[in-house]
Amino acid sequence: MRERGLLIVLSGPSGVGKGTVRKALFSQEDTNFEYSISATTRKPREGEVNGVDYFFKSREEFETMIKENKLLEWAEYVGNYYGTPIDYVEKTLSEGKDVFLEIEVQGALQVKNAFPEGLFIFLAPPSLSELKNRIVNRGTESEDLINNRMKVAKEEIDMMDAYDYVVENDKVEHACDRIKAIVTAEHCRRDRIAARYKRMLEVE
Ligand code: 5GP
Repeated sequence: MRERGLLIVLSGPSGVGKGTVRKALFSQEDTNFEYSISATTRKPREGEVNGVDYFFKSREEFETMIKENKLLEWAEYVGNYYGTPIDYVEKTLSEGKDVFLEIEVQGALQVKNAFPEGLFIFLAPPSLSELKNRIVNRGTESEDLINNRMKVAKEEIDMMDAYDYVVENDKVEHACDRIKAIVTAEHCRRDRIAARYKRMLEVE
């Protein structure tokens, strides 16, 4: 029996740079996981290609996919639907390949329910660690601004709870390196390896 691939989920707060990190990862030759192309009702941006960047759908088509259980997860984000077609994910994992999703946080929580064995990576803004300096240097920023930043930061930190790893997006190439290191480490986990060795012994 072939070992199933890993389901890797990269998510994080809006504006953190998930798309940029994902594009950088998939432009590197040594990235050996498969990108799951999402379906969306948003209009293509200049240069985006149907079936490469997204599967662009009408609202009716998307709602049919929801009804027919064709999506692993879906969410409405800034007035548009986004979702992960389930067939591709299932097929690719069963071929033993790792699948990579880059999705917003509501969708990631749904994947966590359906696939608790997935690898959940939270991309965090570097401003979270800069926050302390900003607070220390209080004199330079208004109290309202600091309070607002604190509130946003607290919400972002609370979101981390559902994830296995946190990668700070300080520099895109550093974030990519850490994500690849996490995937490599995950493949070396004792529980995954031991199961494979035990199966090998069963055959002999
Ligand atoms: P954009 O419109 O900028 O391409 O994407 C907007 C947001 O939708 C980003 O945060 C992106 O991660 C998220 N997104 C893209 N595909 C999916 C998906 O299949 N499911 C969910 N839940 N979010 C997605």
